[in-house]
Amino acid sequence: MSAGREHYGEPVALAGPQALHGGLSFLDGEKSEVVLDPEEAKSLLVLVGGFDRVTVSACPGCRSRILAAVALVDLLDAAPPHPRGPELVELADEAPTLHLYLVDEGSDCTHDRWLDPGFDEWSDAVND
Ligand SMILES: [Zn+2]
Repeated sequence: MSAGREHYGEPVALAGPQALHGGLSFLDGEKSEVVLDPEEAKSLLVLVGGFDRVTVSACPGCRSRILAAVALVDLLDAAPPHPRGPELVELADEAPTLHLYLVDEGSDCTHDRWLDPGFDEWSDAVND
């Protein structure tokens, strides 16, 4: 390793909403999408306590994942109300595959470590 080369140069916005990470997009794999901004995403995650219980397959490196639509509706129903909750319930209720695809908009993860077959399904759904 040669010295003299600083590796702090990534343009990460330290003054920005770093602690909030980014927003989250929920896709149904066809045409519908609900996008939460970072504030909304954060408050939703606090209210529902995370999505681990309704996750079908997830990237180990970021928050992108496949959610079970029916379980997500139950989770949202059981949680305190969120302003965007009704939209998410509607999206989940009408999801054609019974899966929703969550995209971590605040991550530049390349999902290299998401080796589960779920990754192919997720990738197909979000790269349309
Ligand atoms: Zn990832």
